[in-house]
Amino acid sequence: MVLPSLLQRSVDDGGMLGSFMAGRKKKTVRKVRVAHELPKRRRMAIDEAMKAHKTEDRPEWDRGSDWGDVRFYRKRIKPGTLRTIHLPLLDVSLGDSWPIPVTIIHGARPGPCITVLGGTHGDELTGPSACTHLLSNAFTDEGKPLDPKTMAGTLRIVPVVNLPGYRMKSRYFPDGRDLNRQFPGDPTGSTTRRVAAQVWNHLVEDSDGIIDLHSAAKGRKNMPQVRVDLTHTSSYLLAKSFGIEIILDSVPPKGTLRRTANRADIPVITYEGGGADTLGDQSVKVAVHGVMNALRSMRMVPGNPQRPRFRIMASGSTWLRAGEGGLLDMFVQAGSVMREGEVVATISDPATPGMTVDIVAPEDGLIIGAATNPFTAAGMPVGHFLPISKHFGLLEEQIDENGHFIVNGSLEERVWREEHEVDEVSLEGEWSGGNVDSEWVGSKSSSDEKEFEEEGA
Ligand SMILES: [Zn+2]
Repeated sequence: MVLPSLLQRSVDDGGMLGSFMAGRKKKTVRKVRVAHELPKRRRMAIDEAMKAHKTEDRPEWDRGSDWGDVRFYRKRIKPGTLRTIHLPLLDVSLGDSWPIPVTIIHGARPGPCITVLGGTHGDELTGPSACTHLLSNAFTDEGKPLDPKTMAGTLRIVPVVNLPGYRMKSRYFPDGRDLNRQFPGDPTGSTTRRVAAQVWNHLVEDSDGIIDLHSAAKGRKNMPQVRVDLTHTSSYLLAKSFGIEIILDSVPPKGTLRRTANRADIPVITYEGGGADTLGDQSVKVAVHGVMNALRSMRMVPGNPQRPRFRIMASGSTWLRAGEGGLLDMFVQAGSVMREGEVVATISDPATPGMTVDIVAPEDGLIIGAATNPFTAAGMPVGHFLPISKHFGLLEEQIDENGHFIVNGSLEERVWREEHEVDEVSLEGEWSGGNVDSEWVGSKSSSDEKEFEEEGA
């Protein structure tokens, strides 16, 4: 499957607004600077793939073509409507089938089918939060960007794929396996392989593009970044459409959704932002912003994508590891721009006061991931470091007063927090006081209770 010429056109640098703005005053489009920090061989492979890539015309996505109901898990969704359907992760007649909610926004007009996944790892909350915001009234109400009546194509949003893991606050499925190593799955295999097969059959195989939202594993935090195999051209185009500065070129391990889907020629990008068990404002904002940018690039929703000032296509990130054990004092965080020799972290050991060991940036670059857990043993990753040699100046032009890189979209308004009509509910009764165990009591409660009690030890 190849993303349509529509996306190809719109994510090419420059030249897009020209046709879109026809009839209005012509606006010059600012070019996005593209910076390569890739080995030459890889660059050549990417260029070759790009040349060989044929933009596919998909007449069925033309505005005038027939557009009818879609089916999802035996249910029917009419054009111009939104419906949430529960997909069982296990195909069983006995026991828990682990149903997960999948919201399908089936646009009124023809277009591609894009799937947004969150919570493939059950303890990563950036994806679930971003998906929940995208499904809020601020996005799906009449006249809002994801109003099915004005949308083109089909958008499927799955806030939490690994719902059993999410409920246990775990990355894994209950059998201890990582879903993101089991694709394309096997309906007669292990529990998680069965889940992978079900996800593959119902959410992956018929997608024209997949945006998989992730966070760093426990004890670490990632700055917002996109990971993609740049030699898979339609994935590359999807990555560009996300509108983010840092794009990491990587071929992920066997059994990952991205690798397996790319083999089946389905475009996939992985977004990374924040860390497990936490919710960072910036990571969620950039995720929402990126998904909307991609949908705008594909003309599924109205409006123009907001482009970054530049894109850095990079690879060759390395882990800075602790050489000693002890307590980690981080000087930087995910997103810090570093000069060679600057201190990333200091390790000290309560058992050996007075001695500290510094970990320094090995060259100029960016901390794309950082440890958040101060307990450290020798060999543990402290920082995920992306060396930036030729284009360091670009980073320096876009940092805040603490030296943190400002990601496109991270300063956006949180539209999902805008005020909307709320029914006011009035309650009768009174607050029982300032005690830590205070509670709401009925209006006829006795008033001679002690107002404050000593807090127990
Ligand atoms: Zn993950």
